Amino acid sequence: MTTSAAPTTASDDVLRRSREAVAGISTGVLIDGTWTEAASGCRFDVVDPATEEVVATVADGGPEDAARAIEAAGRAQKGWARTAPRERGEILRRSYELIMARQDELALVMSTEMGKPLAEARGEVAYAAEFFRWFAEEAVRIGGDMTVSGDGRTRILVSKEPVGPCVLVTPWNFPLAMGTRKIGPAVAAGCTMVFKPANLTPLSSLALADVLVEAGLPAGVLNVVCTSKASSVVGPWMSSGIARKISFTGSTEVGVRLLEQAAQHVMRSSMELGGNAPFIVFEDADLDVAVEAAMTAKMRNMGEACTAANRLFVHRSVAEEFSARLAERMGSLTVGHGVAEGTQVGPLVEEKALAKVEELVDDALARGASVRCGGRRPGGRGWFYAPTVLSGVSPDAALMSQEIFGPVAPVVPFDSEEQVLEWANDTPWGLVGYLFTRDVDRSFRVSEALEVGMVGVNTGLVSNPAAPFGGIKASGLGREGGRAGIEEFLETKYTAVPRG
Ligand code: NAD
Repeated sequence: MTTSAAPTTASDDVLRRSREAVAGISTGVLIDGTWTEAASGCRFDVVDPATEEVVATVADGGPEDAARAIEAAGRAQKGWARTAPRERGEILRRSYELIMARQDELALVMSTEMGKPLAEARGEVAYAAEFFRWFAEEAVRIGGDMTVSGDGRTRILVSKEPVGPCVLVTPWNFPLAMGTRKIGPAVAAGCTMVFKPANLTPLSSLALADVLVEAGLPAGVLNVVCTSKASSVVGPWMSSGIARKISFTGSTEVGVRLLEQAAQHVMRSSMELGGNAPFIVFEDADLDVAVEAAMTAKMRNMGEACTAANRLFVHRSVAEEFSARLAERMGSLTVGHGVAEGTQVGPLVEEKALAKVEELVDDALARGASVRCGGRRPGGRGWFYAPTVLSGVSPDAALMSQEIFGPVAPVVPFDSEEQVLEWANDTPWGLVGYLFTRDVDRSFRVSEALEVGMVGVNTGLVSNPAAPFGGIKASGLGREGGRAGIEEFLETKYTAVPRG
């Protein structure tokens, strides 16, 4: 089936299994180890973007729940910080095992609330779990240092301590991995947490909380409040004076607002924000490799990734061949319900996202671009958009300066390395860049010149739990994953002891 066909639909059997998986999840607020309804008694809907049907309701937290949650995190902090690192690591390790044992079930839940194809959802479950395994191993390696001052009179002891209660806020596009990437290092470091998942995809995060409770995480260490009105929960946490850190993944616009709030209490801040990734194909690139990588960097998560290739700059001498080959691949993908057999491209997460993608494509076409494949909705129910390749895109088209967050690949021809570097860096964002060349010197030169936190050389995938993920400029502050990930949750303390 190709993108000219109507989206595939799911069998009754898989729909029954996904309903059962959803039904097994706790959908209240988790405060001090107890699941309850929200203080208001209200609930909000979770919708399957492929069918536009409500699949669950979740307790709709507000200021009263927020206050109870942050107070619980504050009370639990001292005792949790004293827990043996090995014990914290073992809780993470057990959680890793539980997640992997439930990989299929969790993938069904994620696919149902977010739309991604099951194969990708399974991949995200494994990726998410790996953050817990990685940080389980880091918990027992939090080091320190001791030295003697230059004049020989003072012992300098340097130790690491947990930052304290943390506010965690995550987006909808990777509902499980964005949670484990924060919770893993916070648990390993000995921090307590209040966690607000995205309102579009709360079920995966709630299932994650169930896993952590089952793995033995003590009451009060992780408190979860979902809400349909983010500021009514996150606002009170930021102004509480109890939280010592904010770790946020989401849009730059909201990140900036949270940084302003963090300034009031001088809170430690980690920000994983938006991107506008350049994907540069030089004339000497292996086009098989570049096209395959474009499929990953563009189509993973239907293009709804901060790391998505947003601007595909291709040397003029190979731009036509690259566009034709990419259009052939993207145009033959199967679009459908994420949980349906054989689906390769799911729906976008909500109607607003679909409208934005349509608007960006229309604008590019009005400025002279041509459609090589897709360029429209396939029709029927659900927020689907056909995988689209646009060639001859003008550098002033709106999609060159905004995150597309959809399955649209705009190809822009360039003539020289100097020109493409100028275009690539001409953006407020700096998360990731991709480059394709067989020339080793050029790969280092261009990699060094790109104003980004991460570079993919001849690959379209940089995310890895063992690597420091993060951006510069408007893409954020700090790093998640790798050795750097746990440092974000640790303070450095220096103790001076005179030598007799
Ligand atoms: P968003 O900023 O709208 O929402 C992110 C989270 O913030 C959600 O939980 C949301 O409910 C909450 N939020 C919204 N308004 C808030 C407010 N006023 N106060 C407190 N919290 C608030 O982003 P999104 O649409 O969920 O996610 C997409 C964005 O996330 C894109 O820009 C994408 O690039 C970015 N992202 C970045 C990374 C990264 O690691 N750099 C990873 C994934 C997504």
